[in-house]
Amino acid sequence: MILAGWGRGARAIAYLGIGKCQGCRNWDHFQLFETQRRVTLYFVPVAKFATHYYAVCNCCQAAVELSKAEADVLLRDSVAVPSPDDAEVIWQSLMEAACDESLETPEQGFAVLEARAKELKTRYSDDHVEQVLSAFVGYITDEDRPR
Ligand SMILES: [Zn+2]
Repeated sequence: MILAGWGRGARAIAYLGIGKCQGCRNWDHFQLFETQRRVTLYFVPVAKFATHYYAVCNCCQAAVELSKAEADVLLRDSVAVPSPDDAEVIWQSLMEAACDESLETPEQGFAVLEARAKELKTRYSDDHVEQVLSAFVGYITDEDRPR
């Protein structure tokens, strides 16, 4: 899977997992970017501006600016986030479980997801499965997502 780059002079510093984008309203991968702008005088950099932080949607590239404190929290929490590839595999596995035609009630759906999550935890860390599962539950209960 390719996570697109974003902006000029922007550097991806962490993968943030799957979440809902306020721009395109899709659920997709997010990355944390930092940017630093320099002021140049006759091509000589004279000042380094403050660093800016953005959470960027992989689908539409919409960027939400974050404070340094918010970025620090996300950066710290990103250790509990699986790699983009693992997140994708866990997400697809949950999707496959949830798309079972024989499911009739939301309760049955959640029971199936719980069972699938338990199975996934034998292959992935509990933190990683929980992280993707909570985003997935957000996704399937999201009334506002594009169909
Ligand atoms: Zn988006």
